[in-house]
Amino acid sequence: MVVCEGDYKYLNYTQINQKISELAKEYPDLIKAESIHQKYNLPHQGGDCGHSKCVITYVSISDYKIPPGNKVQVYLSGNLHGDEQLGPNVLVYLAEYLAKTYNDGDISHFNNLREREIIMTPMTNAQGYYWNHRHEETDKGQRIDVNRDFPYNRDDDNCYQSVAARAVFKIFQNNDIYGALTYHGGTEVISYPWGSFNHIERKNGRQVGTESPDDSMFAKIAEVLQTQSSVPNWNNLRIGTMTETVYACHGAMEDWAYGASFDTSPNGKHENCSPTSYLPFNKTEYFTNHTHIKPAIYLVEASNNKHPITSRFGTPSNLKCKDCHPDGHINRHIKLCLSFIDMMMPYPIIETVSQLSLSHARVEFKINGCLSLQKVEFLVQNSTGHYTTFTKLPTIPGYCNHASHPQTTFTHDVPLRSDRNNKTSFKIKFLADQDFLVQTSPEPRLPPQTSVVQSRDPNSVLYKLTIRSYILVREGEKLAVLDELSPEIRDDY
Ligand SMILES: [Zn+2]
Repeated sequence: MVVCEGDYKYLNYTQINQKISELAKEYPDLIKAESIHQKYNLPHQGGDCGHSKCVITYVSISDYKIPPGNKVQVYLSGNLHGDEQLGPNVLVYLAEYLAKTYNDGDISHFNNLREREIIMTPMTNAQGYYWNHRHEETDKGQRIDVNRDFPYNRDDDNCYQSVAARAVFKIFQNNDIYGALTYHGGTEVISYPWGSFNHIERKNGRQVGTESPDDSMFAKIAEVLQTQSSVPNWNNLRIGTMTETVYACHGAMEDWAYGASFDTSPNGKHENCSPTSYLPFNKTEYFTNHTHIKPAIYLVEASNNKHPITSRFGTPSNLKCKDCHPDGHINRHIKLCLSFIDMMMPYPIIETVSQLSLSHARVEFKINGCLSLQKVEFLVQNSTGHYTTFTKLPTIPGYCNHASHPQTTFTHDVPLRSDRNNKTSFKIKFLADQDFLVQTSPEPRLPPQTSVVQSRDPNSVLYKLTIRSYILVREGEKLAVLDELSPEIRDDY
């Protein structure tokens, strides 16, 4: 096969770090890259990667000109096993794609950088990637499987021995991660908790993970990710619990990240972990400020071959075609990631505002980041300061504006105020994905725990983040919509 300039190719350890630092230089308002060792005062992995110590690079992507406001954080890990080499390449090409398209004004992925902060470690096990081996190896020759190194359903001396696992912990501890994808390779699967030996049952003669408190959400988002990553004439990525689709294991990142903060069942979380690793370990540091950690996390097995041939990567131009199916491994996973990032929290988006007359404007909007819509309300502030509510029903019942779905645009005509400095306030409020809240027999018996589900639950404090307030400003012939976080008008609102 002839490899053309701009085609996807395997990037080695040095090329990945180089490409990330070039992107950060080219798009300083969109991409930041730092050494995780400096950021969180972590040691380096053993040995070296070429002429220097191996560096785990922490990358964050967002439109940093927009204040954090409602931005939801998502974490993507490229690899925990060094020889599973597709994930790191997917994440680097995803970073490049996001920055380039956003910078070029392509609005189809506009929301991913306005509404989200994407944190990624393309090479979470940088040493393993450099040397193409599964484990993280210590200077004493000890080989640690990073995905058995977390304090959940694990022996007390077998956790946080690796630098990579400590790096993952620090990312979760220091951020508020709503959702995470952790890339592996060797089979083709989109899987979710449970995947540990303390939550296991037999169904139809097979071992499966029992129902987690967030199982409805996990299963429904997995279906979306499966559809988005579907390549014509290829098998779809299989979906299900990790125990069912991969196998159960002790000390895996996924069960720890999702469950360790709330699951007090026997053999669940461990807070007595004292690693035998030669690396200094401050126990207090690793078992404080962690109760907020409970992301909607998926383990993605990217491809049957841990190092698939580049002719099956797909072509970058395929991503420009909005209605096309992905044409190879890299594109199927970029589409999967984009869809996952968007689904973390529903949000309204104003499509257009037009002046109908001197006294009225028309607002067209959509609800994004969800699967189904149960109710949409448009609230306009009247002269007494109270809000009048107008219920809007989807023209195609039940559908949010999602890539897998027909799009529903809502319209509302707003009377323009001539008092209050020509400013008219309105809000958009909605109920989405109420089926995420449905449970049968969760284990442990608790309500849904993830912020992804709680942001959809009208009884949760997180729900209010999805209700957006706007101000419509008229200046002569000109109309503008500002969201409530716009600093220039915040004071008098
Ligand atoms: Zn793996």
